[in-house]
Amino acid sequence: VIRCRAAVAWAVGKPLSVEEVEVAPPKAGEVRVKIVATGICHTDEHLLEGSFPNVDFPVIPGHEGAGIVESVGEGVTSVKPGDKVIPLCLPQCGECSFCLNPESNYCLKCHVSEPQSLLPDKTSRFTCKGKQIHHFLWVSTFAEYTVIPEYAVAKIDAAAPLDKVCLLACGFSTGYGAAINTAKVKPGSTCAVFGLGGVGLSVVMGCKAAGASCIVAIDINKDKFAKAKELGATHCISPHDFKKPIQEVLTEMTGHGVDYSFEVIGHADTMTAALASCNMNTGVCVMVGVPASGSVISFDPMLVLSGRTWKGTLLGGWKMRDCIPRLVASYLEKKFNSDVLITHTLPIAKVNEGFELLRAGK
Ligand code: NAD
Ligand code: ZN
Ligand code: ZN
Repeated sequence: VIRCRAAVAWAVGKPLSVEEVEVAPPKAGEVRVKIVATGICHTDEHLLEGSFPNVDFPVIPGHEGAGIVESVGEGVTSVKPGDKVIPLCLPQCGECSFCLNPESNYCLKCHVSEPQSLLPDKTSRFTCKGKQIHHFLWVSTFAEYTVIPEYAVAKIDAAAPLDKVCLLACGFSTGYGAAINTAKVKPGSTCAVFGLGGVGLSVVMGCKAAGASCIVAIDINKDKFAKAKELGATHCISPHDFKKPIQEVLTEMTGHGVDYSFEVIGHADTMTAALASCNMNTGVCVMVGVPASGSVISFDPMLVLSGRTWKGTLLGGWKMRDCIPRLVASYLEKKFNSDVLITHTLPIAKVNEGFELLRAGK
């Protein structure tokens, strides 16, 4: 058993508490990882707000981490102590019918299908002050050590800087893949990106890499515009600057609406606005933002009947165990620069300050 620090969420709506926790050794088919760095994604904030009714508290959040294998359980063959790895919040068992389908990146053996806040064998490896602490998405990267199923770990290049490539565990890969894999943005096309957080800015990077000629970046926080422009946005607009709905603004700007629109906020109203912003016939709208649990969308069915495609993405459509190591290789070859997304670097003791910065749009 390892004693180390972790940021524990004891209850919904409460700040995280940095505690000493006990991390049990990995059981068969599991890997214990020393987490070196982790990002904060808005999905962790959704968890703290109580948007995941299936996740039990107390829980250790965090799912955008990178680390080094400390020890492995019986039967683990794909990684060994000392390997650099990225924990995968969407696993890839490689055997289920979805893993065998080249079009799918959703593994049927993942935590969405299984009890969410325990490992696959329905037990936890974390305790604190005599209490069992739950896992989040099987990765819980806000702990200095965490235990993860082997098929939710990807071995990466030993040269990878862990404090940079941790962003490939969620935010960067999700946004970049939403453009490249899910929407399949074509060269010369027009795109609109709603929400310019870490994920939305990565969508902008993906649209640019795919050769889009017009990328409209939309946010109510204009402080986000400078970075969006640096990454390839050709226009930056705030819905607050217009009297008419933003979908009408975008339709007028582009003639018939954009070819591809992306909602990267997680609100029902911006999801329908994004849908209505793309071309009525051939437009594709990708839902990336996570809606509040129980939210319902009502929309004019004519929006889709006329031909539009409305689709969602989990982690940008990448088959995670296969693709994350390749994305890390591309990062090392400087094919993209995800470092631009890093705004602040803090020690774990200041994790609540990190969330304050996220809430403040900084
Ligand atoms: P973030 O908080 O960093 O960014 C959200 C941005 O949206 C902010 O810049 C904010 O100012 C802007 N915004 C808020 N309301 C707006 C409005 N009405 N109009 C325009 N802009 C508005 O969040 P993030 O970490 O980039 O995550 C974005 C979303 O993506 C979250 O909902 C997160 O849960 C989700 N997400 C989904 C996946 C997936 O696999 N589908 C993966 C990662 C994150
Ligand atoms: Zn995330
Ligand atoms: Zn699978």
